[in-house]
Amino acid sequence: MTRHYDVIIIGAGAAGMMCALTAGQRGLSVLVLDHAKAPGEKIRISGGGRCNFTNIHASPANYISGNRHFAKSALARYTPKDFLALVERHRIAWHEKTLGQLFCDDSAKDIIRMLLDEMRAGGVRLELQQEIEAVERKGEEFHVRTGHGAFSAGALVIATGGKSIPKMGATGFAYRIAEQFGLKVTETRPGLVPLTLEPTLLQRLAELSGVAVDVEVSQSKTSFREALLFTHRGLSGPAILQISSYWREGDEISLKIEPEQNLLARLKEARQKNGRQALQTALGDMLPKRLAQYFAEQSGLTGSLADQADKKLISIAAAVQDWKIKPAGSEGYRTAEVTLGGLDTAELDSRSMETKNCPGLYFIGECVDVTGWLGGYNFQWAWASGFCCGLALAGT
Ligand code: FAD
Repeated sequence: MTRHYDVIIIGAGAAGMMCALTAGQRGLSVLVLDHAKAPGEKIRISGGGRCNFTNIHASPANYISGNRHFAKSALARYTPKDFLALVERHRIAWHEKTLGQLFCDDSAKDIIRMLLDEMRAGGVRLELQQEIEAVERKGEEFHVRTGHGAFSAGALVIATGGKSIPKMGATGFAYRIAEQFGLKVTETRPGLVPLTLEPTLLQRLAELSGVAVDVEVSQSKTSFREALLFTHRGLSGPAILQISSYWREGDEISLKIEPEQNLLARLKEARQKNGRQALQTALGDMLPKRLAQYFAEQSGLTGSLADQADKKLISIAAAVQDWKIKPAGSEGYRTAEVTLGGLDTAELDSRSMETKNCPGLYFIGECVDVTGWLGGYNFQWAWASGFCCGLALAGT
């Protein structure tokens, strides 16, 4: 027997749950299907278990998309303040960490509980461990068959996220559905991901593994000022994750280590005050010790600071503060926090997330070609696109 609902949502992640509670609380019968054992698994592991659930500065400028205007409508209609009000209504303690990033004080599970409570309040039905076997359109209705049953609805929402972290159940499901319905998908690639280095460079930097330092990382016209972490595989830390979403194979990135410091001025000052000091010792006052050792060795400069002409100090300051590195690749979907690209926004109405050429079919969240920076922006997109879709389904 086929069970009928007003709306079927596939994917009980951030976007799917927000859409479900919004539509359910406005009187629609809503079914959410997911193949995982538990809802919101990415919320659970996010932000180191504390969920960086939004960013108070979120604006369309913090998103990458083939159409930079597309996210404007949803982001304006459901803002970080709206989500924060929900969090506060549920008495979830939170704090701002840095750069407008809001985290739970205790656990990301509080956010999942909040969404489930709100779904219950809207009478939403959640069915887990449902492998989707087929999705069909028959007349005005969508039919979904799983290993456990058959369901139909007038509207179908795809909220199955991207390809990142397949171990956690990520699939290319949304892109397959897009293909089935003749919808365009833009090129997908891993984003917010550590970058790898070719073996010779990796070996040269092996001593630095575990060192963290503030950098300004730039690639073409984009730059971020955050921490970089050297690892045994290459480069990581927030600065690298941010730039990875802009980086393309073959591109060089430029690192300005300790961007707040004028390294050349400080080296000249050190030479004047304490000319007998070794270069490595002087650099050690300005950089993490292992990094100072690395640059001193790489420079090949011997002797004390007093022995170094201006030209030599200029060259070492440039080596540290205009360091060009060509990454070999990225760690891929295995560790990427997001998937760049996805359902082409040209296929969607930006207010409702409904496909223009297939009435009743909606796409929300990460599977759409809208990807946020690191720092709570991706959840804000999931909440905003889910909310706007839920409103549209309810006709409000
Ligand atoms: P998802 O949350 O991925 O949900 C998709 C759902 O669909 C899942 O429940 C999945 O089981 C289900 N599904 C998938 N395929 C199928 C299928 N074939 N059949 C049935 N169900 C299916 N963003 C932030 O803003 N802040 C953070 O702190 C943050 N931390 C992160 C940490 C990690 C380690 C990772 C990987 C990501 C993090 N992100 C963070 C990104 C954020 O998690 C995602 O952008 C967000 O979860 C996307 O929401 P979504 O609902 O579109 O997709």
